[in-house]
Amino acid sequence: MAAECLFCRIAEGTIPATTVYSNDEIVAFRDVNPQAPTHILVIPRKHIASILELDPADEALAGRLLRTAAAIARAEKIADRGFRLVLNCNREGGQTVFHLHVHLVGGRVMSWPPG
Ligand code: 5GP
Ligand code: ZN
Repeated sequence: MAAECLFCRIAEGTIPATTVYSNDEIVAFRDVNPQAPTHILVIPRKHIASILELDPADEALAGRLLRTAAAIARAEKIADRGFRLVLNCNREGGQTVFHLHVHLVGGRVMSWPPG
């Protein structure tokens, strides 16, 4: 666990969150400032700062993050109508928490291009 990392703290349970899924390597919880009716963050328990720090050894984990996001979309009943997965990276990408996370957003029509 990285010291002072908010999402490491949420993953270990010392900072509360509304968890929707958890296993030994992945946690998913509702975003505290939702941008859509469904807004869930899917994160690895392992501290990985961003997509830029993803190692070859993390490839299977990255795949499971995406499959977990898809499973949660089904569980949230937004799979058929559609949803969006977002990974923000660094300053211009809008990343504010430097622990890898996939945003799962849905429950409304998404515009394109993104802001
Ligand atoms: P980023 O901007 O790094 O892609 O996304 C970080 C997300 O984390 C934001 O959507 C923000 O609302 C969310 N967030 C920040 N602090 C907390 C928190 O303490 N709890 C939860 N559940 N979400 C948080
Ligand atoms: Zn972390």
